Amino acid sequence: MSYDILIKNGRIIDGAGNPWYYADVAIKDGKIVKIRPQLDVIATKIIDANGLIVCPGFIDLHSHTDFILPFLSRVESFIRQGITTCVVGMCGDSLAPIPPERVDDAKKLLCTINPAFANLNISWNTFEEYLNKMEKVRCPLNLVFFVGYNNIRLAGGAAFENRLPTNKELESMKNYLAEAMEAGAFGMSTGLIYSPQVYAKTEELIELAKVVAKYRGLYFSHIRGEGKTLINAVKEFIEIIEKSGCIGGQIAHHKVSGKIYWGTSKESLRLIEEANSRGINISCDQYPYTRGMTSLSTILPPWVHEGGVDKILERLQNSKDRNRIKNETRNEGWENFIHENGFESIYISTVNTKKWKDIEGKNIAEITKIKGKIDGWETLFEILIDEKGGGTMTIESMCEEDIRRIMTNRYQMVGTDGIGVPANPSFGKFHPRFFGTYPRILGKYVREEKVLTLEEAIRKMTSFPAQRLGLRDRGLIREDLWADLVIFDPNTVIDIATYENPLQYPEGIPHVIVNGIIIVENNKQNRKYPGRVLRRPT
Ligand SMILES: [Zn+2]
Repeated sequence: MSYDILIKNGRIIDGAGNPWYYADVAIKDGKIVKIRPQLDVIATKIIDANGLIVCPGFIDLHSHTDFILPFLSRVESFIRQGITTCVVGMCGDSLAPIPPERVDDAKKLLCTINPAFANLNISWNTFEEYLNKMEKVRCPLNLVFFVGYNNIRLAGGAAFENRLPTNKELESMKNYLAEAMEAGAFGMSTGLIYSPQVYAKTEELIELAKVVAKYRGLYFSHIRGEGKTLINAVKEFIEIIEKSGCIGGQIAHHKVSGKIYWGTSKESLRLIEEANSRGINISCDQYPYTRGMTSLSTILPPWVHEGGVDKILERLQNSKDRNRIKNETRNEGWENFIHENGFESIYISTVNTKKWKDIEGKNIAEITKIKGKIDGWETLFEILIDEKGGGTMTIESMCEEDIRRIMTNRYQMVGTDGIGVPANPSFGKFHPRFFGTYPRILGKYVREEKVLTLEEAIRKMTSFPAQRLGLRDRGLIREDLWADLVIFDPNTVIDIATYENPLQYPEGIPHVIVNGIIIVENNKQNRKYPGRVLRRPT
């Protein structure tokens, strides 16, 4: 018998959390077929992993890569950090369903993320049609899809109106959600600081989560607040899981945002632990950085978003509305980045217009000085108007102590909250998490600071997320499982991407294998696309 790949002399970390051991691994037809202390067999390709760790490919529990796949599908910054499966459709944003009568509205919203959507032919409406389309996109890694609540609310009725849906609209939303679940979505996601989802009340979300529960699906959420309102937001999240009967919930990119609230993770983690002890299955994911990143328009109070993008732009040009926005940043009832962090902590990361290209990477206080504006408000309003409501920001808002407390919690796993992109400077100053999440944990937090053991960190990147998603055939090094593997050097693995210079691939991850096909060899990505669209296991 001959094999496709033989990995020799490596130290195996199997993903289950067990200590490492020496073994050779043989791969054939996409699967791990033999693991022995020594294998002297014939193979088309032999990889010498002497001095290196061989572990399961990383499963990114939270990514927004679906928003680049219609245009670019090599997902370089993900592949190079060892991600072999990623979860998309997060924070309530997915690319389906989009019923025919909503294509224009959806496009307008999508253009605030990426203006290229203006020219994209949206040839699908239902979730099934979308997944079928995605199966034809050549992608190097496996994809797990969630349906976004924004799409459900837009498709089903209440859309950008700040009100409860009517009974008829609620029924329609449930039908769209059920269609997505039948098509193979793993669950529903929400992002409760974003419009129009921000208008959804707890009861509305419970009603929809009941549909997810019926299919034994999962509820993933960017909860309603990560600063002042963090604890209430965690409580609301737990209530949604409990009252809907959902089998599991995931708090996205768990963090404490805003200096005056640092330390609150003690209480949020206590709530998660207490819920689990009552039989409510809740976990969280995290990226290891002190800055967050989101769309720039999220800085505006929820009422500014009512009616959609055109209305936002109208209000930004009206002095009365501008004054109301300024006044409301003194209130604390909503996710208020300016109040909690200040203009000096808010950095413009990407813009779409030439006019503002030179300020990418700078904070709003600096930009105000450089451009000779009156104050941060004038700068912010002008950027938002020129960018037609688009653009993104990073916000310096977290502390190391909370990051470590969350990282070492037993319910934590890893997610980038990023997008797989090429190292192309025309894309702007993305958050470095797009390039460095996994190697940063392995290099900084495991090797240098010993916050986690190597085996524990890898478990949180592999078998734990596989268990969360119900993927029984990935996330471990075992015979008969899919050969999604990462081979890295524990002595050198590290992230290189910084806020100032984020478009840099990590070091120390020479080989990556997806479905038994080598996609990174000697630190170079090749042009192979073995990734698959995974559908919810039934
Ligand atoms: Zn989010």
